[in-house]
Amino acid sequence: MEVLETVGALRSWIAGRENRPRVLVPTMGALHAGHASLLEAAASARPDCECLVSIFVNPTQFGPGEDYERYPRTFDEDLALCESRGAEAVFAPEASELYPADASVSVAENRLSRVLCGASRVGHFDGVCTIVAKLFLLASPAAAVFGEKDYQQLAVIRRLVRDLHFPVEILAAPTVREADGLAMSSRNRYLSPAERLHAAGIHRALREVAAGIANGALPSPAIARSELHRLVGSIPGARIDYLEIADSGTLESLERFGPTPARLLAAVHFGSTRLIDNVGVPKLNG
Ligand code: AMP
Repeated sequence: MEVLETVGALRSWIAGRENRPRVLVPTMGALHAGHASLLEAAASARPDCECLVSIFVNPTQFGPGEDYERYPRTFDEDLALCESRGAEAVFAPEASELYPADASVSVAENRLSRVLCGASRVGHFDGVCTIVAKLFLLASPAAAVFGEKDYQQLAVIRRLVRDLHFPVEILAAPTVREADGLAMSSRNRYLSPAERLHAAGIHRALREVAAGIANGALPSPAIARSELHRLVGSIPGARIDYLEIADSGTLESLERFGPTPARLLAAVHFGSTRLIDNVGVPKLNG
């Protein structure tokens, strides 16, 4: 497996691949089984492709006061995981390699990014769009894999690809969870033992409300939303950022259940750690 630390090294590596297509797996490192599943999804969906993983803690998607400086960095373990899952190369540049000090061009998404995480993390999705556009331009992948764990990010990236005509197939991978249901995240390591225990309640609440919607016990989004607030609000230590029941495609808040699938999305603080999770609603009867 090649480790490429500069744009020049990436370009030379690509030039030597003789037109073999690539699937890109973008990450910020601190890799866990959720990331490993993306590499597996890449291999099974695109066996024709070589796998390129990027490991880059992207400064432009962190707001002031967020955890850019303390974001976990576990580079050697990350390389071992990539190699064990068959990655051909890892692109891991310094921030200065991708962002000139006086960089003045960025990519903005102005609809899906206004709500949910984008409302509390202003500028976050512009940072995501900018880095993903750069990676697509640098690596020219045939496909790229993103996790449903970051559901809004996946929707924003589909929009980026559609609106800017990137010839990249976007593959979505389901959320990988701990045994008690907590979505795996590089940030889970910030949780105290008590917070870690209670954090599993987020997924329990989402699942319970999704089941209630599916079986008709929660007949409207307003009723389902208030049940979600009641359940998450009763988790010790949980401070709600948002709880939403949205159209799974547009992310618009739902006023009634209809033919478009609904998605339940949550962002919850435990102490200084912000966790997100989401689930789909099983198909409604009728
Ligand atoms: P990150 O390193 O957190 O920026 O995530 C890199 C990619 O891994 C994104 O596409 C995430 O959605 C995905 N990812 C993170 N956690 C999980 C998980 N628990 N299950 C599946 N995919 C995940």
